Amino acid sequence: MADRYLSFTATGPGRFLTRRLGLPQPAALTRWSPERPALDGGLRHLTAGRSGLDLAPVLARTGIGPAGSGRAAAVVLDASGVRDVEGLAEVHAALHPVVRSVAASGRVVLLGAPLDPADHHQAAAQQALEGFTRSLGKEIGRGRTVNLVRLTDAPAAESTLRFLLSPKSAYVSGQVIEVGAGEEPATPVDRDRPLAGRTALVTGGARGIGEAVAETLARDGARVVVLDVPQAEQDARRVADRLGGTALLLDITAADAGSRIAEALPDGLDLLIHNAGITRDRRLVNMPAERWMPVLEVNLASVLRTTDALLKAGTLNRGGRIVATASIAGIAGNAGQTNYGASKAGIVGLVRSLAPRAVAEHGVTVNAVAPGFIETKMTAAVPLFIREAGRRMNSLAQGGLPADVAETTAWLAHPASGAVNGQVVRVCGQSLLGA
Ligand code: NAD
Repeated sequence: MADRYLSFTATGPGRFLTRRLGLPQPAALTRWSPERPALDGGLRHLTAGRSGLDLAPVLARTGIGPAGSGRAAAVVLDASGVRDVEGLAEVHAALHPVVRSVAASGRVVLLGAPLDPADHHQAAAQQALEGFTRSLGKEIGRGRTVNLVRLTDAPAAESTLRFLLSPKSAYVSGQVIEVGAGEEPATPVDRDRPLAGRTALVTGGARGIGEAVAETLARDGARVVVLDVPQAEQDARRVADRLGGTALLLDITAADAGSRIAEALPDGLDLLIHNAGITRDRRLVNMPAERWMPVLEVNLASVLRTTDALLKAGTLNRGGRIVATASIAGIAGNAGQTNYGASKAGIVGLVRSLAPRAVAEHGVTVNAVAPGFIETKMTAAVPLFIREAGRRMNSLAQGGLPADVAETTAWLAHPASGAVNGQVVRVCGQSLLGA
């Protein structure tokens, strides 16, 4: 499962050879660890157009100091006030001189405004920022990421900026994230254990991405319930014991899964993480219904059913979070995965439709993560050539780790992320597949 090419290009001869051959140059990404909780270096705050955002206090609270004249670990360009093509000249003028000096594994974050339906010049200029972000993400290299946040209110976007300006977002690039106005958390949030006092249920939590999600939510203070099929009992108990949580052995496709979860959680649930998923790949011409339906059942129908049951039963507490798992295969499509692609696209539809209602009626946000190529047992089973292509076909030229999806989930689950709703955030190193 190890990425030997990444290790090879990190050596002197490896770098020399692969450069001469014009092969991809993946940089070793800087990820979060207790020893390295923040980016290495300062922040440069730039503006294009006339911004109405009160950004400085929010950026100050992210804990990254100003960059001064040296290398910046992060650049934030507030382009929310850009309303026309002249404003785009200011975007160029602001970033052109500094982009070279952004440190390896550094961050470029653009801030934009929602598109104004009554002003097509503003809409054109703001949409232009999206093309700019995605293009810069593809060319910037050295493990650096570029993302765009559309916002109306700086404090509501604090948790999002904190995530993007940290090593936790190492594999999130080329994304456009919309942050609404949202509510502030009622009580102050403990910085180190923001999820303290919250209960999280992670489906498929016995291994792979689900295990990493359970681990990260527990790190952030949540009490975790690791749900997995009875056949995975040993792994589920091992993960739950390690994290001081409990295991719930249950096939999520069971008709009564929702009521059994509700029974197991008499004090309610705060974070519902729909992670369980399966693949049964085959081209449609060779795919019998026996391979089609189980994928739709596990990846989509059970997510719809348990979500409905838990919302209806009032098991999900106000301020709760639902994070479902889509996939870039559900956005771009993938040969041999009509069943999987359909199920994961279904998750995107579910999120978009349910998010506004779930917040209005239950005070619960609904978002999805869409992983790209993540190094797990699922992708280790992919034939070597396709696996190697999957790893390299993204702007960071490497696969992601389960921790990358877990950190993204933890940001969406954060008590201060109430203004992030209805988003599908790809954790794919800006995969070349799909938008
Ligand atoms: P994995 O196969 O390693 O783990 C999936 C877990 O889900 C297993 O523990 C399994 O027992 C459990 N599970 C399966 N069916 C279940 C059921 N009916 N009820 C309860 N639990 C069940 O997979 P992974 O790679 O960790 O993927 C996790 C999620 O991320 C899945 O939804 C997958 O589709 C999605 N995803 C993964 C990748 C990737 O590159 N690994 C990419 C895109 C999306």
